[in-house]
Amino acid sequence: MEGIAVRLVDLRKSFGETTAVAGVDLEIRDGEFFSMLGPSGSGKTTVLRLVAGFESPDRGRIELAGRDVTRLAPFERDVHTVFQDYALFPHMTVEQNVAYGLKVRKVPKAERLVRARKALAEVRLEGHGQRRPAQLSGGQRQRVALARALVGRPRVLLLDEPLGALDLKLREQMQVELKAIQREVGITFVLVTHDQEEALTMSDRIAVFDQGRTAQVGTPAEIYERPATAFVASFVGTSNLLGGETAHRITGAPGTYNIRPEKIHVLKETAGADEPDHATATGTVAEVVYLGDATRFLVDLDGGGRLTALQQNLQTSSEDVAAYRGTRVRLRWHRRHAVRLPS
Ligand code: ATP
Repeated sequence: MEGIAVRLVDLRKSFGETTAVAGVDLEIRDGEFFSMLGPSGSGKTTVLRLVAGFESPDRGRIELAGRDVTRLAPFERDVHTVFQDYALFPHMTVEQNVAYGLKVRKVPKAERLVRARKALAEVRLEGHGQRRPAQLSGGQRQRVALARALVGRPRVLLLDEPLGALDLKLREQMQVELKAIQREVGITFVLVTHDQEEALTMSDRIAVFDQGRTAQVGTPAEIYERPATAFVASFVGTSNLLGGETAHRITGAPGTYNIRPEKIHVLKETAGADEPDHATATGTVAEVVYLGDATRFLVDLDGGGRLTALQQNLQTSSEDVAAYRGTRVRLRWHRRHAVRLPS
């Protein structure tokens, strides 16, 4: 059986009238890249701070590698936190920044140096040890912060929006790097983010937070393909949520459904309606947007309701997509892609 790195049992935390964490149960496995994803105010940062020991819970238990640490001080827990602002010492060299924690722990100088260099190599910053933080790019500073965390070989690394300060291109590059570094060092990473794409890209598993609770815990594919609630469906990816009469009309059954836009094909209205296991609906294109790699159609359905469909632009064409506006179309999708949400 795999080891459990972090176990949270009925964790609760309020600040005055505000309930930040409303009863969270969670198990994070050894060596896992785990993300806590949710909108602002959903409680994910508070959970991270509780695990780090910066806050203490009103109720519940926190275990690290099977040991109850709920009442222990941060330095007594085998975790390290990487903050968004990196908190590097500007007057120290990169190497001194990375080795600082070891110095505090009275590790001999020669060993400090060896370990600091190894950590810098792990984040692909060998040769940068003698620079000062101001002489590095944002992405490099981020990696120094990571090296400083890795050098102490914590059981669990906590990362609070670690890529939030980087611009989009660099962020995308660092997402891939961070995941590769995690895989190499094998340490459990627990990351807080409000960016669904970031969570989907890097994580082995994700917990989606909604109002102080986990709405769903699963792999990126489980969360995206089988969202447990309407909130998860709409927060992670683009969704078509169908309820009531519209859902009944196009699925033939009661309930609330979600269909991802890329699962819906846009066809000519005259296209054959009956393909086995497929559902179809006709309507009028209300809006069409050219996105480069794909085109997005908003279609007002006959009889009410609206669906968004995303079509890959597989062929080269300079055709003006605006010409589709107001045209009649048939939408078709495989029935299994209309995912029923538990009510
Ligand atoms: P964000 O992405 O904006 O940081 P979050 O999902 O991480 O959001 P938390 O920071 O955990 O959410 O906050 C959850 C709730 O608890 C919010 O309503 C917040 O205002 C409140 N809260 C968090 N920390 C404190 C504090 N120290 N004092 C008072 N209220 C707090």
